[in-house]
Amino acid sequence: MFPFNKPYMTGKETVYIRQSVESGKISGDGIFTQKCHHFFEKKYGFKKCLLTTSCTDALEMAALLIDLKIDDEVIMPSYTFVSTSNAFVLRGAKIIFTDSEKQIPNIDADKIEELITEKTKAIVVVHYAGMACDMDKIMTIAKKHNLFVIEDAAQAIDSFYNGKPLGSIGHLAAFSFHETKNIISGEGGMLVINDDKFIKRAEIIREKGTNRSAFFRGEIDKYSWIDIGSSFLPSDIIAAFLFAQLENLENIQNRRKYIWNKYHQGLKKLEEKEIIKIPQIPNYATNNAHMFYLICNSIEERSALILHLKKNKITAIFHYLSLHKSPYYQKKHDKRELPNCDKFADCLLRLPFYYELKNEEIERIINKISEFYA
Ligand SMILES: *Cc1c(COP(=O)(O)O)cnc(C)c1O
Repeated sequence: MFPFNKPYMTGKETVYIRQSVESGKISGDGIFTQKCHHFFEKKYGFKKCLLTTSCTDALEMAALLIDLKIDDEVIMPSYTFVSTSNAFVLRGAKIIFTDSEKQIPNIDADKIEELITEKTKAIVVVHYAGMACDMDKIMTIAKKHNLFVIEDAAQAIDSFYNGKPLGSIGHLAAFSFHETKNIISGEGGMLVINDDKFIKRAEIIREKGTNRSAFFRGEIDKYSWIDIGSSFLPSDIIAAFLFAQLENLENIQNRRKYIWNKYHQGLKKLEEKEIIKIPQIPNYATNNAHMFYLICNSIEERSALILHLKKNKITAIFHYLSLHKSPYYQKKHDKRELPNCDKFADCLLRLPFYYELKNEEIERIINKISEFYA
């Protein structure tokens, strides 16, 4: 069976983990955590980076930082992972789910403004498959209504919007290094802070509501409990793993882009015959080869294709179920229909995608899809 995902190791992970262990400090913010922070700040110009134990944690930190009050409203797409909304629901916020664009799963920026009320506090965007949302439009709306913008950049490492790195545009951004992403550490994530005013408090929230970070830098002579917070920082062993991946970022990205282009070329014919749709990257966005998906015509067709591929030992999987229709949020949702979101929930299919996927395997997958539609 071809798996859907297979974590790629560069070979240096265990070397750095050993170094971390031998350094005698394996809790958070050790040498490898610092190396990772510097890497991101230098490469992408992020103002401040803080590794977390997951993207979910980074989103929870963002929800704490913008000081959400009960019943504050947060606008976000419905076609996303549960953590995007859960982080804000934990603070008592009401989620205002928004439809996707017609062609791509990203939030439809033209539908945001009509949903803004006195209670709206933030817009959360998700760069689906690492493709940028329409950020100029979204930042303009946010500025006009004095709202925070948080980028769920879980899938968006090394991707750009009109030349700007994703994660550097909103007030805050969250990345994931879960083993299904491009750059991994098993579980892992990062909060990016682009607005200075959040930096100091973010360090405190991440360290159980204490000013321990300032204490370790020698800025104060004792640390104490000064705010709410939790334990969001990962062990340096995780950062050691991650750093090995970061050193190989270019190599990993090149291979992934090669795989993406091979799928694209192979499936273009089916798109030209209007049999399926394949991803369309907007002009303002880059492709970071996080995933390759195709869009079937119906849920029945997709189920049949999944079965056909499964019979041929290929694991293809669908993706998000609309959050506005989830068992947990359905009753809280204001009943607006979100047809584009539902269409992606029913018709989007993701193909196996990992560094070690061989050329002949990609060809075989393309052939089996063509065979299904023949
Ligand atoms: C993977 C993912 C997350 C969650 O990341 P974790 O690091 O597993 O918490 C959140 N949002 C999106 C869009 C994701 O793809």
